[in-house]
Amino acid sequence: MKIKTSLGIAIVAVLAIACATNPFTGKKTMALVPNSQIFPMAFQQYDQFLDENKVVTNTSDARMITNVGQKIATASERYLNANGYAGYLNDYQWEYNLVEDPAVNAWCMPGGKIVFYTGILPITQGETGVAAVMGHEVAHALANHGQQRMSAAQYQAVGAVAGNLALGNDPQKQQIFNQAYGLGSTVGVMLPFSRNHESEADRIGLTLMAIAGYEPMAAAQLWERMKANAGSNAPPEFLSTHPSSTTRINNITAWAAEAKAEARKFGVTSFKK
Ligand SMILES: [Zn+2]
Repeated sequence: MKIKTSLGIAIVAVLAIACATNPFTGKKTMALVPNSQIFPMAFQQYDQFLDENKVVTNTSDARMITNVGQKIATASERYLNANGYAGYLNDYQWEYNLVEDPAVNAWCMPGGKIVFYTGILPITQGETGVAAVMGHEVAHALANHGQQRMSAAQYQAVGAVAGNLALGNDPQKQQIFNQAYGLGSTVGVMLPFSRNHESEADRIGLTLMAIAGYEPMAAAQLWERMKANAGSNAPPEFLSTHPSSTTRINNITAWAAEAKAEARKFGVTSFKK
């Protein structure tokens, strides 16, 4: 009986550790690797990335990235606080940087570490386009999509057996992190998310940009421009992981009204185009 009870407690403990709730969809997701382990690794990788790349400062573009980033961060906080997730962002250390690089790319690492490449700016074409990409990338982070990918990698690596959930030594942890985020030798080049995660990030991103005061329909136009650009010879990181299909653009168009309705709950009534 005693053994049974402790086994029961152990199983409950394992399930509690192994799941996280997506605050936007309410869905339970696999989280074998907690954010308390992922964030410090992400912060370290981010600093290393900034050291090894040319960060643009004191230009109007750099200021725009920071400005839009802060608005999306504030929108995230307002949404989470209003939906029973106060404190969700406690361990976030938001940072927004523009790097000089012709790649059409942008990403948000776990814990709110954001990079935009100068190569994406001709496609974003100003603040609202940046907000659409920023909302989407931040949504991946808030929904813990990377954490799920890392959990899946760990699941493959060590197997999800009780007692074997915690990652072993640091090199092993680092290797799984690199595998999940596509970092290491090719820092910042993210592996593609699943179509499902892409859809989720689109929908959450629209809500965030609308609460931040940006016209969510502009996201559909942005992905149209991405689609047009995919045929050119621009470096393809972002475009290959974010194919702009007609379905994607149609979904965004359909969800834009819902995002504006959500924003109105926060007193946002005008949307910058
Ligand atoms: Zn994405």
